[in-house]
Parts: sequence; structure tokens; C-alpha cells
Amino acid sequence: MKVLVIGSGGREHALSHKLSSSQHVEEVFVIPGNDAMQNVATVVGDIKETEHEKIVRFAQENAAEWVVIGPEQPLTEGLADALTAAGIKVFGPNKEAAQIEGSKSFAKAIMAKYDIPTAEYAVIHTKEAALDYLMDHPAPIVLKQDGLAAGKGVIVAMTHEEAVGAIERFYKDGDAEVVFEEFLAGEEFSLMVFVNDDFIIPFDVIAQDHKRAYDGDKGPNTGGMGAYCPVPHIGEDILKVTNERIAYPIAQAMSEEGLNYFGLLYIGAIITEDGPKVIEFNARFGDPECQVLLTKMDSDFIEVLAALERKEAIELEWSEDAVVGVVLAAAGYPGSYDRGHKVYGYNGELDYYISGLKKEDDWVTNGGRVMLALGTGRSIEEAVKASYGNVDKITSDGLFHRQDIAHRAL
Ligand code: ATP
Repeated sequence: MKVLVIGSGGREHALSHKLSSSQHVEEVFVIPGNDAMQNVATVVGDIKETEHEKIVRFAQENAAEWVVIGPEQPLTEGLADALTAAGIKVFGPNKEAAQIEGSKSFAKAIMAKYDIPTAEYAVIHTKEAALDYLMDHPAPIVLKQDGLAAGKGVIVAMTHEEAVGAIERFYKDGDAEVVFEEFLAGEEFSLMVFVNDDFIIPFDVIAQDHKRAYDGDKGPNTGGMGAYCPVPHIGEDILKVTNERIAYPIAQAMSEEGLNYFGLLYIGAIITEDGPKVIEFNARFGDPECQVLLTKMDSDFIEVLAALERKEAIELEWSEDAVVGVVLAAAGYPGSYDRGHKVYGYNGELDYYISGLKKEDDWVTNGGRVMLALGTGRSIEEAVKASYGNVDKITSDGLFHRQDIAHRAL
């Protein structure tokens, strides 16, 4: 069969690779993709993620049996709805269900209604009410702007001054929808799950990413500077309770709300004294967790989608290997950065998933997060060594990376 992937980052490169290795797939198309994805897919660079009609037409004309949507934006804009309306099978939730990621107040309300463990919260619309709330709920406190903000809409205010500063910022143009959350302390992890309405196929593997830009978890928040799996110091017991208290109940809850979710649900969780609690849901794979989890997954992705569609219980298969991915990012990221720096040492090997490279005479940088160097091994130590070995093969004057990916597991 033929399949179509939507997106242009490392996550979609990994999804395209995974699909291309399915015994059921003869061709993978990717819209809009990037130049490096030609090693696993047919890149259709002249259609944009936002051009829903063109995507539907392309899928029809090329007989794509599945469309797999990688990023959040097209999901919250209703691309899955447009494809479904045209009779095309799509992996990725409809617009209403994607609000579980797209609207923090929507996600919090569902969790409150169905008693899914998460931080206490309030949605506050005016600056006066916000300042009053702060009096009763002093710092540390977390403020989250509603809507997609690529990680930039969250302020973890450790002091009263920081909280007041965040309030000034969020309400600077007048009333706004801001979620105020109890500050939770603990270790964070990511658990993915395949969801079809009230049915789920759980993952047996947890991943952890590194959100901060610099070593030692310092510096600004980013889209993610690296990830690894499994996470040996987070045990089976945590995985089990997270599935029992969060994954199954949220699928049930969304079903009861009539959302008809079909796709990957990402659970960002934190281990508190009262057990794991939800920090956020995403309506798609995390990037870069996707790249390491799909490397570890042995199951045929198309067979997983077919089982999910039929609500047929299957056990996902996983390799014994540990997997580590280290992101090489443009100097300056997540702030402003240049493009067009030459990158040497990359020759299309599948040890790298590419998000921001363009092919001119040489490969040149073309984004904030540029590429992810993978490594596998029998232990996290070996996988770390292998991934940094691949990092070292790349030379460029425009890139930086963290030196301590997976350090918590070592
Ligand atoms: P992204 O999509 O980039 O992960 P986001 O904008 O959806 O980010 P969240 O994941 O909700 O935002 O929050 C970003 C980070 O802020 C979390 O990974 C966590 O480190 C911290 N954080 C969020 N909520 C809380 C909380 N209640 N207590 C403590 N820390 C929190």
C-alpha cells in the first residue's frame, strides 16, 4: 500500500522510515517533508501542511491508504476531519479531540470531571482576579496560557515576583484565558499510547526527554534537546499505575464525551508523592521521543494501525536495545539563530533523523533543531556512547548540543 505522512521534522522522518520498513508499504509520501527524507520517502515539497484541500486531493490521486499526521498544528486546524470526510483513513485525532492538547482549560476540565490525577487548577480571565488568586495560592505556582504556544506559554513562577511578572505579561492586552496550576515537584517522564475511542494499545516503554537548552537542565525551555528509552530508574510499577490511572481513564473519558479520538496520545507526567500526575497531554508523538521509541519498536506500524482500527488487543514488540537521541541545534536556539551554515559528515545515513537541513551543494542548516543523532546499545551507557559517536561525525560552525543526554539514567 501507499501511505502519506504530514510534517517536516525529525519526528516525521522517523515515522516515514518506520512506515517504509513495513512489509505492507510500497511507497511513503511526505508533505512537505525535507530534503533529507528522500532516503525513506517521496518528498512532496510543493504542498504545505496548511493546504488541507490539496492534501486531500493528493491522498486521493495517489491512493494513500493511511495518512499519518505528525505535528499538532494541522490536527488542531482540522486536517484529520477533512481527510475523514473524504473517506481517507487517518492516524491523528479530529479537531475537537485534538483540543486535549490545543486547549489547556479543555484538558484540565476533562481531568477534573473524570478524576484523572493532575495538578489543582483554576482558569482565570482577568488581571484583578489573577492577583487575588495569587494571594490565596502563593508561589511556587504555574501559569499557562491557553492555546498552542510551542512550550513558550508556560511560566513556572518560583517566587511571588515572578508570578506577578507572569500575570503582567499574560494580561498585558486585557482579559485572557490563563490556567493557574499547583506547582508539582518530581521527576517527569513521557508515556505514549495508541487510542481508538475507548480502546487503547499501551506502550511497555517509557521515554524521557530533555527540555532545557543547556547541560544540567539549565537555560530556556526548548522543543526538546534529546531523549532516551527505556528509563531504567522509573520502574514497571510507575508504568502500570500510569496506564491504570491515566491512560485507560482518559480514553474512557474522551469516549464518554463523544470525542472519538483516533491516534497517538502523549501523556507528559510527573512522579509526585501521591503517584504520577498529568502535566500535559499532546495529541501526537513527542519530538524527539518519537525518534527513539520508533527505533526501539519492532512491531510493524501498519499492523499496529490495523489492530487499533479493529480494536484488537495486541502486544507491541520492542527490541532489547536501549536507544538514545541527541539533538544538534542551531547556535542561538531556542532564541534567534541563522540558517545556511554548512554541515559536513552527514551522508544520508539512517543514524540521523533530520528536521532542519537543506541540500544545496553541501548540506546547510535550515531550522532551529537541525538533526538528531541516534545510538543504540545493550545498555543506556552503550547507547549514549554510540549516539555521541554519531554526533562527533558531524562538523559545522553553526551547531551546538547537550553533552549530558540520558545522564539521569547513568
Ligand atoms: P510543551 O508542549 O513544549 O511540552 P507546553 O506549553 O504544553 O509545553 P507544559 O508541558 O504544560 O507546557 O509545561 C512545560 C513544562 O513546565 C513542563 O515540562 C514542566 O517542566 C513544567 N510544568 C508544567 N506544569 C507544571 C506543574 N504543575 N508543576 C511543575 N512544573 C510544571
